[in-house]
Order: sequence, then C-alpha cells, then structure tokens
Amino acid sequence: MKFNPMAEPYKIKMVEPLKMTDRAYREKAMKEAGYNTFLLRSEDVYIDLLTDSGTNAMSENQWAGIMLGDEAYAGSKNYYHLEAAMHDCFGYKHLVPTHQGRGAENLVSQALIKAGQYVPGNMYFTTTRAHQELQGGIFVDVIVDEAHDPYNTNPFKGNVDLNKYEQLINKVGAKNIAYITIGVTVNLAGGQPVSMENLRTVYKLSQANGIKVVLDATRAMENAYLIQQREPGYKDKSVKEILREMCSCSDVATCSGKKDFHTNIGGFAACNDDDLAVSMRNMVVVYEGLQTYGGMAGRDMEAMARGMLEACQDHVMAHRVAQSEYLGNKLLAADIPIVRPVGGHGVFIDAKAFYPTVPQSQYVAQVLAADLYVHSGVRSMERGIVSAGRDAKTGEEHHPKLETIRLTIPRRVYTQSHFDVVADAIIELYQERDKARGLKMVYEPKYLRFFQARFEKI
Ligand SMILES: *Cc1c(COP(=O)(O)O)cnc(C)c1O
Repeated sequence: MKFNPMAEPYKIKMVEPLKMTDRAYREKAMKEAGYNTFLLRSEDVYIDLLTDSGTNAMSENQWAGIMLGDEAYAGSKNYYHLEAAMHDCFGYKHLVPTHQGRGAENLVSQALIKAGQYVPGNMYFTTTRAHQELQGGIFVDVIVDEAHDPYNTNPFKGNVDLNKYEQLINKVGAKNIAYITIGVTVNLAGGQPVSMENLRTVYKLSQANGIKVVLDATRAMENAYLIQQREPGYKDKSVKEILREMCSCSDVATCSGKKDFHTNIGGFAACNDDDLAVSMRNMVVVYEGLQTYGGMAGRDMEAMARGMLEACQDHVMAHRVAQSEYLGNKLLAADIPIVRPVGGHGVFIDAKAFYPTVPQSQYVAQVLAADLYVHSGVRSMERGIVSAGRDAKTGEEHHPKLETIRLTIPRRVYTQSHFDVVADAIIELYQERDKARGLKMVYEPKYLRFFQARFEKI
C-alpha cells in the first residue's frame, strides 16, 4: 500500500477544547478588535490560522525534554544539545541563541550593516527589513518577477533574480552592499521555495564580490522538502542532506525557532566566520542573555533541539506540505483565487481578485481577514498594504503587488475536518463577495503597523 502523507504521522494524546461562537458574538468581537485579527482574543477564535509561529504542537519527546531543563545561568547542558542538533541539521560552525528570530536579525544587522549600505533580499520580511532599516540599511528587492504574480506556477518563485542582483552590484558597488538575505522559503511570496541551483549561483556571485550570504532559515526544512519534490537530481536525497547542502551555500543564518523547529519560542543566529561570532556574542549579552541561553529557558532550548531533529525527517515534512496542499486544492477546485503553487506553510488568497469591488487603498486583504472571522470564526492574517507599511525615507505607503490573506497552518495542530470547515467558509464567503465593504485606518503605530493598527468600516 502506498503511504498517504495527508494521514497524520502521529496520534493525539491531549486535546485543547475549542469555544463555539455565533455570528453576532463574532461581529462584536471583530469590531472591538478594530477589524484587526491580531487584536482578537485567541479564545474567541474557532480555527486559528493566523500564523504558524509558535503555534506548533510539541511531541511527547519534546515535552519529556522540557522536564530535563538545566536552568543554570551559564553552560546549560541544553545549550550543548541545541548546538549539536544545529551542527547535525545545518552544519554551521557557531551558534548564538536568541529569544526568537528577530533577536537574531538584530544581532546580524548590527554586526554587518553600516548606515547607508544596501541590503538586497528575495522579497522583504517584516521584522527582517525593520532591523535592517533601524541600522540605516536600504532594502532592495531582488526576487524574480514571477514571485509578484499570484498565478505564475513556476516551482521556484522564491529565487533571486540574478540580473537584478548583478545590476545592483554594478550600480552601487559591492562595498556598499552589507550582505544579501535569502529567505527559504519566502513567506510573503506565499511560502515559495528557492532552488539549490539558484542558491549555488547566488553564493558564487556573492563570493566573487566579497558579499556575505545570510539565509533566513526559519522554514528551511520546508524549502529542502520542496527541492526534493521539485528540483531535478534531488528526489533520492533526504531532507537533511538537502538542508546541509543549502546551508553550505551561505555564510550566516538567522532562524526563528517558532516555525519549522516545532517549538513555541526561541531562535538563533549561526555562522562560520569566527570574527562575526565574536561580535554577535558581544552583543547577545546586551540584548538577549548570556551566550549559552540567549533569552531562552534551558527547557526551551531542549525542546528546540529535539524539535529540529524531528522536522528533518522526510515523512514529517511530507505531511506538513500535504496539509497545505489539501486546503489549497479544495479552494482551487472551487475557483477561489489563491497564490500558486500552494506554498509550504499555508495558503494565500489573492484578496484583490476575491473582492474586486474593494480598492487596495481601503485595505482589501484586511477586509477579507475580518469578514472570514465574522463568517466562520476562522482567523487569518493580512499580508498586503498594511503589512508592507511605509517607506522609511519618504513616509509614503508601500503598495505591494501581492495583496493577500494568509491561512497559515500550525504544525500538527488541526485535522482534515478542520481544513474542510475552512474551505467551506471561504467558498461561502466568495458567493457573497458583492457585500464587501472597505476599511479606513484610525490608529497607525510607528513600527510594524499591522500588529496593532485599528480600523473602522467605511
Ligand atoms: C517569523 C519569521 C521571522 C521572525 O521570527 P520571530 O521568531 O517571529 O521573531 C523572520 N523571518 C521569517 C521568514 C519569519 O517567518
């Protein structure tokens, strides 16, 4: 019998009951939350697809590890377990633990960016770009054009456009480029992977110009699995082998432990360069904690060490991606406009196509996320003009080509029936799309506005 990756490769030992609410209750809750799904109370949510960050279900082995936390201030044994797991999965020489991914982004940005330098990347990520800009860096998007087209089915829409990257080097000079960040997979492009061939070429070009390559390896296991599935020459290699090869095409990595590593908190930076490790360890004690815990409890480092090794197993990633594809394929079958191909960590709906009567200036993806919650209790996240924020220099709003809501799949949390409910809710909402009404922003925070902004109905 053929193995079905959609069938859970685990069984359920503990359950977390869900609260059932009605439409009137949700209408009030959404209004009180300023039409921002980040401001809802979690207990008012039925199926929570806001994010896959920190929302993972841990395994019995990870929970057992939690009981073995060595909470010594210095030299915790759990740090050494984490270091060994990082060596095994990623292969970098140095580990600098941090409280989560943005802590690592802060260390790397401070260590490597001089004000006025350019920082190319394959599409921006919110916290990554925020830290680069806080250091005076200028972000330049060098992702392939296909990434901005939701209906282009190129299997590697996360790739760096080598022409764009080379043109930038020629225009500003390699000395004025702090480093290049490569997200694997690219979150805001819809969880799209980067091919090994592209990673290899970018690394060669960067080395020839003395530019460091920083991998945002937050979802690197998913990227490795998608390379195995899609790139010629990789079908017989394991996820872990592919991951090691990906990392060998980079100098530094920043990681959020809250995504592919199956944990609820944590992160780290890793690198091969001894001097960079020294400078990050000098800073980690200022911003995070001692270099052997970096803001994490010993037990959390243990859970991350164990979760990382679990995530490197082929069948675990096969199930993860199968869940995304199941939801995506149900929506495609009903002609719902979603970003294609379906990404590793979730399904992204093209809000402009879903609600053609609501303009981008009225925050159409924000509207869709709010309506989906009111209709069904399903929580999603805006990934469009609100998330893109304003230009650091001119103060103008960025107008991203992709205006989406993200239905992000927490690892090992929901079952096939939950995804059926989500798909049915979206299909029903699409049938009522003429009723959609825009929003206006009534409170705008200075940084990362999408987290706390408030809206009112127009
Ligand atoms: C979540 C995330 C980060 C930031 O990590 P945190 O742990 O939330 O601080 C960075 N990059 C990507 C691609 C992410 O998804």
